[in-house]
Amino acid sequence: MGARGRFLLPTDFDDVKVRLRNSEGKYLAADPSGWTFSTDCAKAFVFDYVGDRIEEYLESIARMSGVVLKAMPVDPKEFLERCDQCQQAVAPTNAFFDGRRFLCPRCRSKVQPRHSGPQPQR
Ligand SMILES: [Zn+2]
Repeated sequence: MGARGRFLLPTDFDDVKVRLRNSEGKYLAADPSGWTFSTDCAKAFVFDYVGDRIEEYLESIARMSGVVLKAMPVDPKEFLERCDQCQQAVAPTNAFFDGRRFLCPRCRSKVQPRHSGPQPQR
């Protein structure tokens, strides 16, 4: 379709997380009963712009319900976990939670010398 770029996004939008905001400035948030809008941006559901196909999603919402939502990029720094061992900031995808604390990959490999150990049984 070649739809990319129509929103004049920076080229590095590929890995960007977004919140969706409506025309009232409220954020789309998930609650137990479904989707809702909240003024509290901490409650906003965070989408993966590319992975969740937000561009198409926004288009279809606008087409089907006339609701225009805007994708607001989230500062990646908001998502960094801090390693409880060395205090280094680490991307959540790399952060390992051992049940008590977050560890960066380096500390994790120190804690678990055999990182190709057996998978936990289900
Ligand atoms: Zn660490």
